[in-house]
Amino acid sequence: MALFSRRKTHFVDSDILVIGGGMAGCGATYESRYWGRDLKIVCVEKANIERSGAVAQGLYAINCYMGMQWGENQPEDHVRYARNDLMGLVREDLGYDIARHVDSTVHKFEEWGLPIMRDPQTGRYQREGKWQIMIHGESYKPIVAEAACKAATEVYNRIMVTHLLTDAKKAGRVAGAVGFNVRTGDFYVFRAKAVIVCAGGASHIFKPRSVGEGMGRTWYAPWSSASAYALPILAGAKMMQMENRIVLTRFKDGYGPVGAYFLHLKTYTQNAYGEEYETRWFDKLRETIGDYVDHHPVPTCLRNHAFLEEVKAGRGPIRMVTKEAFQDPHKETVGWENFLGMTIGQAVVWASQNIDPKYINPELTTSEPYVMGSHATCSGAWASGPSDYAPAEYQWGYNRMMTVEGLFGAGDTIGGTAHKFSSGSFTEGRIAAKAAVNYVLDMGNDRPEASEAEYENLKKAVYQPLETYAVGRNEIVAGTVSPSYLLPIHGLQRLEKIMDEYVGGIGSGYTTNEPMLMRGIELLGMLKEDLAHIGAEDLHQLQRTWELKHRVLASESVTQHTLFRTETRWPGYYYRADHPKLDDQDWHCFTLSRYDRETDKWTMEKAPVYHIID
Ligand SMILES: Cc1cc2nc3c(=O)[nH]c(=O)nc-3n(C[C@H](O)[C@H](O)[C@H](O)COP(=O)(O)OP(=O)(O)OC[C@H]3O[C@@H](n4cnc5c(N)ncnc54)[C@H](O)[C@@H]3O)c2cc1C
Repeated sequence: MALFSRRKTHFVDSDILVIGGGMAGCGATYESRYWGRDLKIVCVEKANIERSGAVAQGLYAINCYMGMQWGENQPEDHVRYARNDLMGLVREDLGYDIARHVDSTVHKFEEWGLPIMRDPQTGRYQREGKWQIMIHGESYKPIVAEAACKAATEVYNRIMVTHLLTDAKKAGRVAGAVGFNVRTGDFYVFRAKAVIVCAGGASHIFKPRSVGEGMGRTWYAPWSSASAYALPILAGAKMMQMENRIVLTRFKDGYGPVGAYFLHLKTYTQNAYGEEYETRWFDKLRETIGDYVDHHPVPTCLRNHAFLEEVKAGRGPIRMVTKEAFQDPHKETVGWENFLGMTIGQAVVWASQNIDPKYINPELTTSEPYVMGSHATCSGAWASGPSDYAPAEYQWGYNRMMTVEGLFGAGDTIGGTAHKFSSGSFTEGRIAAKAAVNYVLDMGNDRPEASEAEYENLKKAVYQPLETYAVGRNEIVAGTVSPSYLLPIHGLQRLEKIMDEYVGGIGSGYTTNEPMLMRGIELLGMLKEDLAHIGAEDLHQLQRTWELKHRVLASESVTQHTLFRTETRWPGYYYRADHPKLDDQDWHCFTLSRYDRETDKWTMEKAPVYHIID
């Protein structure tokens, strides 16, 4: 017990607690202050808000901007676009809600100092594609974070939130959260009236292509460790479409993004023999997924599918044809700058492998799957919709409130709203915050009560891995293998192997079936049992431990959802070999799950998809 009693506990009371200070968290913090002038608003971040989250390194484009001031696009157009890309299954009410507000967010970014490129002829923002505008975005995150810091009553950096607290007075209501400082080891109890989870998506739940020392080199941020899903799941919130993991086609080894290359530089792909290959696979694809393949633009997953089939047919590697575009000095500069302001690692990989895209067409690859709610995919929490737009069945509370009272979410956390990206995530944070402020104000003098017993028990659980290590370490004199504990890296590798082999990762060609999923669930159960004996050598490893626990829970959810949906809806993201066809008759619906932490059981259900926009 010595380790527990030494830990100092800090109590922080607030009206609104924002968990995660990435794009959505900054939006939520900023907007909470706008509507809740006198409220106490606290943002808690695992890293440092100035350079945290998926935008930490900067971005070169804002991928969601309507351009309504110039009549470029309307919100309805964006809903149609996202629906098409996700093979019909998006929450149109939530997507519309973001699209109608996203332009004002981007205008704020510009006001705060973000340099947005302009077309010299028209004076409008420089378009990269229909939805994307180009920025000088190396400092995108610090600029956005500054606005959040000015708005917050307090920002707590370097605190990893491990659990949500539940209200002792009213069942099914959230009362705050707990976590620990990853530098000092102090324990934090955040008591709040409303909580907004904005903790990003999930990488490293599937085995990555990069292994060993390169393991951190994944497309999605390695520090996005599934807290966005695990925290609500443990609190009993319903999740949606968790099977809809994303696979990205990216430049090989550095995972540099391809969007600017396709859209702005007008590069294209070809197989090893210099042939166009995508359309070659479309006839066959029509047999399993119908006319979705004829939609424009071709859904992201189907383009992945053509890539994978071409490689399987032995005509890889697939390359991006850069040699033509890079003859233009302007395009060459843009091509390099695109990485230098966002993914420097890709430029370094090319330099180290003697690849000058002016003379060599670089190879592409498909990534391992990730879980997120803001890209060309939309896994996440099941949230209540806007009162003026959502169908009755999607409205049970305040906008962006989950199925747990007082628990809100935004960005990668919330499911059903693909293609919101950085600007849409910030916007959704704002939307959630406005609703959370209303929720808090409507509460009057009532306030949730976090019980001492609950947070004291959680405190013990949070630090237990340090104790387990300290005791078990004495049983071995060298090495890392102990009879009494496993280390976080061991657990992570085991998780990634299970997900890779049984749930449709790179090792199994993104393919799975019912027997494999059942075995995966069994193995995940065993892993969970063993996690009770995890040992953490220091605070850094303690953070790794809790990240792993969050990843395991999110992985279970992905596996349960993949098992439930007996069709292949998104070929190119994953395949159910025992149900190879898209089945609109039975599965033009959302899948929902709820985890019961008392019984350790998952309950699955279907929810209708309402097409609000023609
Ligand atoms: C490689 C890459 C390239 C992209 N390119 C573009 C682009 O060009 N244009 C564009 O518009 N969008 C782009 N996006 C998408 C954009 O980055 C995301 O949509 C956006 O960051 C999602 O916002 P979020 O707040 O949900 O997550 P994030 O911005 O990732 O923020 C999550 C935050 O939560 C914190 N956190 C996590 N767990 C905890 C915990 N347990 N306790 C406390 N804090 C926690 C994290 O440290 C992080 O700060 C890209 C994303 C990636 C990964």
